[in-house]
Amino acid sequence: MPEKNDTIFGKIIRGEIPASKVYEDDEVLAFSDIAPQAPVHVLVIPKKRIAGMNDAADEDAKLLGKLLLVCKKIAQDKGIDKSGYRIVTNCGPHGCQSVEHLHFHLVGGTQLTGKLG
Ligand code: AMP
Repeated sequence: MPEKNDTIFGKIIRGEIPASKVYEDDEVLAFSDIAPQAPVHVLVIPKKRIAGMNDAADEDAKLLGKLLLVCKKIAQDKGIDKSGYRIVTNCGPHGCQSVEHLHFHLVGGTQLTGKLG
């Protein structure tokens, strides 16, 4: 039974559609982006549904910190921690957010441009 406000990432969390998982615990899931923009492009998401940064609450502070630390761990596991990487979260229309389930993009493995916008 689909949940209210379900997204493709909700389906991945529930195992209804496949993903190339790189990390999982009881609160966090990480998987390869289906359309990678760099040699390493991993999405790190909370299992709890938070639609985006505008919907993160004070009570989510610990979880938000954990998501960033999981990004760091994956960067180390992928061997890009020394060469460097970027962590991005897009929010809303101007941020080009396309999936309404909070996610951090971990991108690296090549020289990224200095542009953010
Ligand atoms: P954003 O545009 O910031 O909302 O990012 C959404 C990301 O999800 C994009 O980079 C997509 O390529 C990625 N994406 C969409 N569907 C899937 C999927 N089924 N598995 C992995 N990544 C996906």
